[in-house]
Amino acid sequence: MKQVIIATKNKGKAKDFEAIFAPLGYEVLTLFDVAPDMEIEETGTTFEENAILKAEAVAKRLNTFVIADDSGLQIDALNGEPGVYSARYAGDHDDEANINKVLTKLKGVPEEKRTARFCCCIAITGPSHKTETFFGTCEGKILTEKRGNHGFGYDPIFYVPSLGCTMAELTAEEKGAISHRGHAIHKLAEQLPSWFQ
Ligand code: IMP
Repeated sequence: MKQVIIATKNKGKAKDFEAIFAPLGYEVLTLFDVAPDMEIEETGTTFEENAILKAEAVAKRLNTFVIADDSGLQIDALNGEPGVYSARYAGDHDDEANINKVLTKLKGVPEEKRTARFCCCIAITGPSHKTETFFGTCEGKILTEKRGNHGFGYDPIFYVPSLGCTMAELTAEEKGAISHRGHAIHKLAEQLPSWFQ
């Protein structure tokens, strides 16, 4: 089985990648497998900058090609917050605290104004290739309370109108078919064979 390295320690993200890559015949490795000591500071101001800096840092260390994803939630009523700061919106990387902060800030905002989207940029880079990026988005609405136990991050409060459920009520495979990360991964998957030549 061909192996791909994802520059992440986020198990939820890794599961999203596995749901799409495994059926295509790729084994997903994460930083836990290849560089557990690495902590990469996300100093960029866009999803693209952060995805590239994570992929390049790990590719440089391992001298092989590496994939990284930077993603987040943009809420229209909060002027695009939390955006690139989604992971640590409430301080530490704590999904529960992040959700509570969003729900508190959106208190009193009516349903029709709770529009939001997940955004994802995936970067792939390696010693003998030019860095490439792939983008995906997923439109939805922020609920007033959590629903569902799957997924990670803001999934339990992110309602997908076309499916009538939250992202956390989908299996990893169902999420992959409609999510920001799923869209970006599918675009990447089309180009991936050339990285093995
Ligand atoms: P980063 O890409 O490591 O900076 O982290 C992105 C953060 O955005 C995650 O920690 C989550 O809080 C949020 N996020 C990104 N993608 C998703 C998703 O698919 N579901 C729920 N939350 C997400």
